[in-house]
Amino acid sequence: MSPSVNTLLLISLLAFPILNQGNRPVQKDPFEEKREHMVRRQIEARGVSDLAVLKAMRTVRRHLFVPPEVASKAYADHALPIGLGQTISQPYMVAYMTEVIRPTAQMKVLEIGTGSGYQAAVLAEIVREVYTIEIVPEHGVAAAARLKKLGYEQVQVKIGDGYQGWEEHAPYDAIVVTAGAETIPPPLLEQLKEGGRMVIPVGPAYRTQTLKLIEKKKGKLITKNLMPVIFVPFTRSGKN
Ligand code: SAH
Repeated sequence: MSPSVNTLLLISLLAFPILNQGNRPVQKDPFEEKREHMVRRQIEARGVSDLAVLKAMRTVRRHLFVPPEVASKAYADHALPIGLGQTISQPYMVAYMTEVIRPTAQMKVLEIGTGSGYQAAVLAEIVREVYTIEIVPEHGVAAAARLKKLGYEQVQVKIGDGYQGWEEHAPYDAIVVTAGAETIPPPLLEQLKEGGRMVIPVGPAYRTQTLKLIEKKKGKLITKNLMPVIFVPFTRSGKN
């Protein structure tokens, strides 16, 4: 016996919400509006215009990268403490540093200073592979677990001193350093591909540093000073 029209209607009414639910994120993101506001007021308004970068900043749920007690401030216009004296950088700084390396889908990027994993996630929204090194084991372990849970399979986290870079996967199309270095680590320059770009804050610990962009062109290094910044210090294993 074929089912009556009423039965079919009932089945489709019942099935629809179930099927539909499967296509939607499980929970609505309560921070979506704040994130949109952050992108418009803090990032686009200050001149970041790379569409892929803006899309990544709109996509990555920054509140999941900060301790729960500061989640309500995750989209504010400043850096935030993430524990053990470290910080997650200001959203604008993350967007700006991502834009200056001119990220594309084919790129392999090295980040020094994983911290919360937020910058790595923003990069991973755009580029093919991200390798990131963190010197504080607690942060490295937590960030690796967070990135995995969020599905960022293309990010690999290593715990160690980023001064040496990550030779195994070199050369890199771009290198993003998110801790203030007193001098530029030579191994990072060596691991930068010909035509590659590195962005790095250089200067004394806890004082004003200069964000620098270094390009490797025909084997030569071309350095441009971008802006004054203050990042947490680039520490060394066995030193500090
Ligand atoms: N990119 C991070 C913020 C980084 S804060 C984010 O998106 O959350 C700077 C980080 O650099 C800190 O976690 C600090 O522990 C780490 N760091 C400092 N010196 C380092 C070094 N030599 N090698 C690797 N990580 C280092």
